Amino acid sequence: MTSTSPEYDIVVAGGGPAGLAFAWKAAEERSVLLLEENFEIGKPVQCSGLVSPRVLEMSGLSSWHNTIKAVDFVSPAGNRLSLRGEAPKGYVIDRSALDIHLAERAARRNVTMLLGASFTGAARDDGGVDVRYMYRGEEKHVRTTLLIGADGASSTVGRTFGLTKFREIVSCVQTDAVTGGMDEGDAVSLYFGSEVAPGFFAWAIPGGSFTRIGLGTYGGVMPASGYFERLLEKLGAGKRLNITAGPIPVGNRGRLTADGVMIIGDAAGQVKPISGGGIFTGMAAGGIAAGVALSAFERGDFSRRFLSRYESEWKRGVGKELDRAALVRRIFLQMSDEKLDQFFSVLDNSSLKEVMAGGDIDFPTELSPLMLSREPGLWRFSPQLIRALI
Ligand SMILES: Cc1cc2nc3c(=O)[nH]c(=O)nc-3n(C[C@H](O)[C@H](O)[C@H](O)COP(=O)(O)OP(=O)(O)OC[C@H]3O[C@@H](n4cnc5c(N)ncnc54)[C@H](O)[C@@H]3O)c2cc1C
Repeated sequence: MTSTSPEYDIVVAGGGPAGLAFAWKAAEERSVLLLEENFEIGKPVQCSGLVSPRVLEMSGLSSWHNTIKAVDFVSPAGNRLSLRGEAPKGYVIDRSALDIHLAERAARRNVTMLLGASFTGAARDDGGVDVRYMYRGEEKHVRTTLLIGADGASSTVGRTFGLTKFREIVSCVQTDAVTGGMDEGDAVSLYFGSEVAPGFFAWAIPGGSFTRIGLGTYGGVMPASGYFERLLEKLGAGKRLNITAGPIPVGNRGRLTADGVMIIGDAAGQVKPISGGGIFTGMAAGGIAAGVALSAFERGDFSRRFLSRYESEWKRGVGKELDRAALVRRIFLQMSDEKLDQFFSVLDNSSLKEVMAGGDIDFPTELSPLMLSREPGLWRFSPQLIRALI
């Protein structure tokens, strides 16, 4: 293909929180085309919509289903560890409404959004990037200077440029159910154990008039859906309003940039390894990548070398927390059900509970040094990894 001048400065593949946060910021100065393969932003939902107050600040979303102030950890043996804080720890949002809100915000900055447009491939040349996508049954091309892969866990952009190498994929299934007993209240329940949700955990999140019940598994003896049926039975959640399933990509061993290309959000495995939350991290990555993209336009330099400033900035900030959380996840994966029970019983002391109740769901590992100093008994669970953590 002969190189022609770019039709858009930037093409973003994927209209989830990461792509929309990127597009909104980049469109302050640059022309942006966003390709979204679905015909509707925000649908289908593959998310529990539990977010920190930070996500509301970053997005400007002003409504939510419920406010969360407490969390109950349920150990494999069924022992409950309850943590309660005064301030809201999280909000249960309508995830679809968040994406629509972010899309409206981006549209107001003149981002062009093409729905039903599926990115299929791209080739970089000296003049920029030739992007291919399917639209109304035909293959189309668009020229751009910079391509952003925000196309989720199955990222075609990541695969096209050999960037995505996920460490783990957690399989999730979830429903909104009317339970009667659990719908109200402000406490999320998290269930652990190889019989409940091997390699991850199960959750019950009160949404006010429904409960969002789901689980993730990694390396179980049956598919996530098998554990899910058991969980629903155990919780007596008969009346289901919907059912969703999706992957959570945890960690990326690959790079985040190539010449003329950056990947963000789930496409880059930028998910919190302990909880699987990826809305805050995806939006944060989108903001950082957009800042570097705008500097690249100022400098006229779209080389991987220049764009890797995004990787460095990411690794210094939120990425550092994700690396530390990945260590905690490794400790967790090494624990048998018996060890997990012991672990929860060590945590069940008032001094530690006070520390944990004050934690930040986006930066949970910040508590590790204080927790270890208050409870030296924690060291025995994995001395080597814990040493790396502090
Ligand atoms: C069951 C479940 C529950 C979760 N619960 C939470 C939670 O409570 N809190 C939280 O913070 N996180 C949660 N997550 C994680 C969170 O949903 C993701 O981390 C987040 O959506 C990532 O945003 P993103 O923009 O990177 O990707 P996505 O939201 O996946 O958006 C990617 C977009 O790209 C589009 N796309 C894909 N391929 C193409 C293509 N080739 N061309 C064009 N468009 C394409 C997709 O249609 C999609 O719209 C959950 C995940 C699952 C599976």
